[in-house]
Amino acid sequence: MQTLGNFVNGQAVAGQSDRTAPVYNPATGQQSLQVALSSADETREAVRIAHEAFTGWAKITPLKRSRILFKFKALVEEHTDELATLISREHGKVFSDAKGEVTRGLEVVEFACGIPHLQKGEHSMNVGTGVDSYSMMQPLGVCAGISPFNFPAMVPMWMFPIALACGNTFVMKPSEKDPSTSMRLAELLKEAGLPDGVFNVVNGDKESVDVLLTDERVQAVSFVGSTPIAEYIYATASAHGKRVQALGGAKNHMVIMPDADLDQAVGALMGAAYGSAGERCMAISVAVPVGEETANRLREKLVAELKQLTVGPGLVEGPDNDMGPLITREHLEKVKRYIQVGVDEGADLVVDGRDTAVEGAGDGFFLGGSLFDHVTPAMRIHREEIFGPVLAIARAASFDDAVAMVNAHEFGNGTAIFTRDGDAARQYCEQIQVGMVGVNVPIPVPMAFHSFGGWKRSLFGPLHMHGPDGVRFNTRMKTITQRWPSGIREETNHFTMPTH
Ligand code: NAD
Repeated sequence: MQTLGNFVNGQAVAGQSDRTAPVYNPATGQQSLQVALSSADETREAVRIAHEAFTGWAKITPLKRSRILFKFKALVEEHTDELATLISREHGKVFSDAKGEVTRGLEVVEFACGIPHLQKGEHSMNVGTGVDSYSMMQPLGVCAGISPFNFPAMVPMWMFPIALACGNTFVMKPSEKDPSTSMRLAELLKEAGLPDGVFNVVNGDKESVDVLLTDERVQAVSFVGSTPIAEYIYATASAHGKRVQALGGAKNHMVIMPDADLDQAVGALMGAAYGSAGERCMAISVAVPVGEETANRLREKLVAELKQLTVGPGLVEGPDNDMGPLITREHLEKVKRYIQVGVDEGADLVVDGRDTAVEGAGDGFFLGGSLFDHVTPAMRIHREEIFGPVLAIARAASFDDAVAMVNAHEFGNGTAIFTRDGDAARQYCEQIQVGMVGVNVPIPVPMAFHSFGGWKRSLFGPLHMHGPDGVRFNTRMKTITQRWPSGIREETNHFTMPTH
């Protein structure tokens, strides 16, 4: 069985630790390889290499760093199908979703290519008589990234392109469930001309993460994953003096007003709730129809659509399935348990995904789409993140009730409102306590040149990911106030302008 090691100092290195984790193909349920879980010492060695590489990399002009990223962008484009196949094989998502993920990551690379402009700083003349002020945005040093299983290409690419563009070096710790994509991205960065040691991949679990959170050479930590771990990352790394952005879990609501185009809303919900098998932090997991009539019509249309939903392997000849398998058998069992919890709590299970037969599924981790109705805010299936293909209908009597339901939730990652009423949409955007809001857009993921991040227990730390916040997060501002001796000014004043 192949054992995946690390990528350090410009090359793949075998893992030294005897601890390993299995990596599965979720569509077959078979183990495809194992990943060596790095020891604390191996992680420290990667940090040392990144720390050594920093001085040289930070001195390279932003324009040259940008040129390397331009080459990297071209290489990722050239290898998109290969990367998407790798993603689908280890994560399970359907090929078109996997390609979409690579494209979204590439958009951050494109943004980072503009670093000579983004890192310019500010300048003010004559802040006092003969005194000028200017600021420079300097890199931090070694930055670390820790990513979840559900976007093995996109989430690392939210983090490292801007960090590298700003002149930092990087240690990436991908999810141990689908680690191969980060390793391949490291090879492509090297091929693009990135100097050895500037980008390193350490595969592992808590043991290596803890080194990244506490080693004094690491300056900043970007994390995306579940809320309990995000909270731990934020507390531990902050206590060790690091800059931290830790994005956590979610429970995203879509409010459907009585005047909404219901066919459009249902089409959007199907993709947003069941796409990528619901394993998306921006998935809609709660539909909030306003008024009984809206709710009844919505339910009827969703049931009809669910009958058409195709579930199967992510990599197939011909048209893609709508939904692939879940990431692991444990996660599959956890989502099934949540369905039972909903039933036991008294919610109305309208469509039970546990009954869906998947042709040729074998031992794959498949589950059909489920739909609950009459879910109330107090139920666990409303309060907790399920992270699977389970959609809850939570009926609201009025717009105000819908807003109150969303605002009372502990998470605040994404939300959407479907309506034809501009005033209702505007009020929703103003009142809702959620970081990313869609108006007739089900998954309002900001583009790379805006910043991505939730509110409340979906994000720990002040700065969002990529976009302008990404540049702020990855740089430290220094402000210089300068006055030169007046003699030099006198001399300068005698300079005469050429006449031609
Ligand atoms: P996870 O929290 O289990 O793991 C994330 C990372 O943390 C992995 O690299 C893992 O190795 C590491 N880790 C796990 N346990 C740890 C521990 N005890 N100490 C230190 N490190 C640890 O998350 P996951 O299951 O891989 O991903 C799914 C979660 O990620 C969901 O909750 C989802 O909402 C969230 N997510 C959030 C966003 C967002 O933008 N807010 C985006 C994608 C995923």
